Amino acid sequence: MASTNDFPKPTYITGSCLCGALKYRIDFPKDHDFDKASGTCQCTQCRKNTSSLFYIYHKVPFTAFRWTSPTPCPTLKAYQATPGNSRGFCTSCGSMMYWRTNAGPHISVPIGTVDPLFLFGEGADGVEVPKEGFGMALMRCGGGHEWCGNEIPGVTRKEDISLFKRGEQFLEDD
Ligand SMILES: [Zn+2]
Ligand SMILES: [Zn+2]
Repeated sequence: MASTNDFPKPTYITGSCLCGALKYRIDFPKDHDFDKASGTCQCTQCRKNTSSLFYIYHKVPFTAFRWTSPTPCPTLKAYQATPGNSRGFCTSCGSMMYWRTNAGPHISVPIGTVDPLFLFGEGADGVEVPKEGFGMALMRCGGGHEWCGNEIPGVTRKEDISLFKRGEQFLEDD
Protein backbone atom coordinates (compact mmCIF):
# COMPACT_ATOMS: atom_id res chain seq x y z
CA MET A 1 0.00 0.00 0.00
CA ALA A 2 1.29 3.41 -0.93
CA SER A 3 2.21 5.72 1.90
CA THR A 4 -0.05 8.66 2.51
CA ASN A 5 2.57 10.96 1.05
CA ASP A 6 3.19 8.96 -2.11
CA PHE A 7 1.62 11.35 -4.59
CA PRO A 8 2.72 14.45 -6.50
CA LYS A 9 2.03 17.72 -4.72
CA PRO A 10 1.49 21.13 -6.28
CA THR A 11 3.29 24.27 -5.14
CA TYR A 12 0.25 26.26 -6.22
CA ILE A 13 -3.15 25.83 -7.83
CA THR A 14 -5.70 28.09 -9.46
CA GLY A 15 -9.46 27.94 -9.50
CA SER A 16 -12.51 29.85 -10.61
CA CYS A 17 -16.27 30.01 -10.55
CA LEU A 18 -18.33 28.68 -13.44
CA CYS A 19 -18.67 32.03 -15.24
CA GLY A 20 -15.05 33.06 -14.59
CA ALA A 21 -15.82 36.34 -12.81
CA LEU A 22 -14.09 34.99 -9.69
CA LYS A 23 -10.59 33.57 -9.95
CA TYR A 24 -8.22 32.60 -7.17
CA ARG A 25 -4.78 31.24 -6.58
CA ILE A 26 -3.46 29.24 -3.65
CA ASP A 27 0.28 29.11 -2.92
CA PHE A 28 0.80 26.24 -0.51
CA PRO A 29 3.01 26.70 2.54
CA LYS A 30 6.16 24.53 2.43
CA ASP A 31 4.93 22.40 5.32
CA HIS A 32 1.39 22.05 4.00
CA ASP A 33 -0.11 18.67 4.98
CA PHE A 34 -2.02 17.69 1.85
CA ASP A 35 -3.32 14.51 3.43
CA LYS A 36 -4.93 16.21 6.40
CA ALA A 37 -6.10 19.34 4.59
CA SER A 38 -8.98 17.79 2.71
CA GLY A 39 -12.18 16.16 3.77
CA THR A 40 -15.88 15.93 3.18
CA CYS A 41 -18.97 17.26 4.89
CA GLN A 42 -22.47 15.89 4.64
CA CYS A 43 -24.21 18.49 6.77
CA THR A 44 -27.47 19.78 5.39
CA GLN A 45 -26.09 23.30 5.04
CA CYS A 46 -23.21 22.10 2.88
CA ARG A 47 -25.55 19.88 0.86
CA LYS A 48 -27.91 22.74 0.12
CA ASN A 49 -25.01 25.14 -0.47
CA THR A 50 -23.21 22.85 -2.94
CA SER A 51 -26.36 21.21 -4.33
CA SER A 52 -24.47 17.93 -3.85
CA LEU A 53 -24.44 15.04 -1.38
CA PHE A 54 -20.87 15.82 -0.32
CA TYR A 55 -19.00 19.03 0.18
CA ILE A 56 -15.44 18.02 -0.71
CA TYR A 57 -12.97 20.68 0.35
CA HIS A 58 -9.32 21.54 0.67
CA LYS A 59 -8.38 23.76 3.60
CA VAL A 60 -5.46 26.21 3.57
CA PRO A 61 -4.26 29.12 5.68
CA PHE A 62 -6.14 32.26 4.66
CA THR A 63 -2.80 33.91 3.90
CA ALA A 64 -2.14 31.28 1.21
CA PHE A 65 -5.31 32.23 -0.67
CA ARG A 66 -5.72 35.26 -2.89
CA TRP A 67 -8.16 36.45 -5.52
CA THR A 68 -6.60 36.95 -8.94
CA SER A 69 -9.77 38.44 -10.40
CA PRO A 70 -10.18 42.19 -9.79
CA THR A 71 -11.24 43.01 -6.23
CA PRO A 72 -13.64 43.93 -4.88
CA CYS A 73 -15.57 41.77 -7.34
CA PRO A 74 -19.23 42.80 -7.65
CA THR A 75 -20.34 39.18 -8.08
CA LEU A 76 -18.78 37.95 -4.82
CA LYS A 77 -21.20 37.68 -1.95
CA ALA A 78 -21.04 35.86 1.36
CA TYR A 79 -23.92 34.08 3.04
CA GLN A 80 -23.93 33.08 6.69
CA ALA A 81 -26.06 30.02 7.35
CA THR A 82 -24.55 30.04 10.83
CA PRO A 83 -23.48 33.40 12.34
CA GLY A 84 -19.71 33.77 12.15
CA ASN A 85 -19.23 31.32 9.27
CA SER A 86 -19.22 32.64 5.73
CA ARG A 87 -20.00 30.84 2.50
CA GLY A 88 -18.72 32.86 -0.44
CA PHE A 89 -20.44 32.50 -3.79
CA CYS A 90 -20.70 34.08 -7.21
CA THR A 91 -23.97 35.94 -7.72
CA SER A 92 -23.62 35.61 -11.49
CA CYS A 93 -23.24 31.84 -11.87
CA GLY A 94 -23.96 30.49 -8.38
CA SER A 95 -20.66 28.69 -7.73
CA MET A 96 -19.80 28.25 -4.08
CA MET A 97 -16.26 29.57 -3.68
CA TYR A 98 -15.31 29.09 -0.06
CA TRP A 99 -16.31 28.33 3.49
CA ARG A 100 -14.61 30.00 6.38
CA THR A 101 -14.97 30.92 9.99
CA ASN A 102 -14.76 34.70 9.89
CA ALA A 103 -12.31 34.94 12.77
CA GLY A 104 -10.37 31.79 11.85
CA PRO A 105 -6.99 31.48 10.14
CA HIS A 106 -8.15 29.03 7.45
CA ILE A 107 -10.28 29.00 4.33
CA SER A 108 -11.80 25.91 2.72
CA VAL A 109 -12.35 25.83 -1.00
CA PRO A 110 -14.75 23.46 -2.75
CA ILE A 111 -12.61 21.04 -4.72
CA GLY A 112 -14.87 21.42 -7.76
CA THR A 113 -13.73 25.03 -8.25
CA VAL A 114 -10.10 23.97 -8.82
CA ASP A 115 -9.11 24.38 -12.46
CA PRO A 116 -9.07 21.12 -14.52
CA LEU A 117 -5.33 21.47 -15.18
CA PHE A 118 -4.60 20.91 -11.50
CA LEU A 119 -7.56 18.67 -10.71
CA PHE A 120 -6.96 15.96 -13.31
CA GLY A 121 -4.25 17.26 -15.62
CA GLU A 122 -6.31 18.68 -18.48
CA GLY A 123 -3.74 20.28 -20.81
CA ALA A 124 -0.85 19.34 -18.52
CA ASP A 125 2.65 19.14 -19.98
CA GLY A 126 3.75 16.43 -17.56
CA VAL A 127 6.55 18.61 -16.23
CA GLU A 128 5.14 21.44 -14.15
CA VAL A 129 1.86 19.57 -13.75
CA PRO A 130 1.80 15.75 -14.00
CA LYS A 131 -0.44 14.22 -16.67
CA GLU A 132 -2.88 13.02 -14.00
CA GLY A 133 -2.97 16.38 -12.24
CA PHE A 134 -2.91 16.78 -8.47
CA GLY A 135 -6.27 15.25 -7.60
CA MET A 136 -4.71 12.77 -5.18
CA ALA A 137 -2.98 15.55 -3.26
CA LEU A 138 -6.03 17.79 -3.26
CA MET A 139 -8.65 15.29 -2.12
CA ARG A 140 -7.03 12.54 -0.09
CA CYS A 141 -9.66 13.38 2.51
CA GLY A 142 -7.28 12.40 5.30
CA GLY A 143 -8.79 15.27 7.24
CA GLY A 144 -11.89 13.21 7.78
CA HIS A 145 -15.53 13.10 6.90
CA GLU A 146 -17.86 15.43 8.74
CA TRP A 147 -21.51 14.92 9.50
CA CYS A 148 -21.48 11.20 8.72
CA GLY A 149 -24.60 11.02 10.86
CA ASN A 150 -26.29 12.47 7.81
CA GLU A 151 -25.02 9.71 5.57
CA ILE A 152 -27.56 8.27 3.23
CA PRO A 153 -27.71 4.51 3.87
CA GLY A 154 -26.29 2.53 0.97
CA VAL A 155 -25.34 5.68 -0.92
CA THR A 156 -22.89 7.89 0.96
CA ARG A 157 -21.47 5.52 3.58
CA LYS A 158 -17.75 6.15 3.51
CA GLU A 159 -17.06 2.51 4.41
CA ASP A 160 -18.32 1.22 1.10
CA ILE A 161 -18.45 4.41 -0.93
CA SER A 162 -21.14 2.74 -2.97
CA LEU A 163 -21.73 6.06 -4.65
CA PHE A 164 -18.67 5.36 -6.75
CA LYS A 165 -19.00 1.60 -7.07
CA ARG A 166 -22.50 1.34 -8.42
CA GLY A 167 -24.12 2.35 -11.65
CA GLU A 168 -22.88 2.89 -15.13
CA GLN A 169 -20.10 5.37 -15.65
CA PHE A 170 -20.23 7.78 -18.53
CA LEU A 171 -17.04 9.32 -19.87
CA GLU A 172 -18.93 12.42 -20.93
CA ASP A 173 -22.48 13.68 -20.86
CA ASP A 174 -24.95 10.84 -21.39
ZN1 LIG B 1 -19.32 33.15 -11.53
ZN1 LIG C 1 -21.03 21.09 6.31
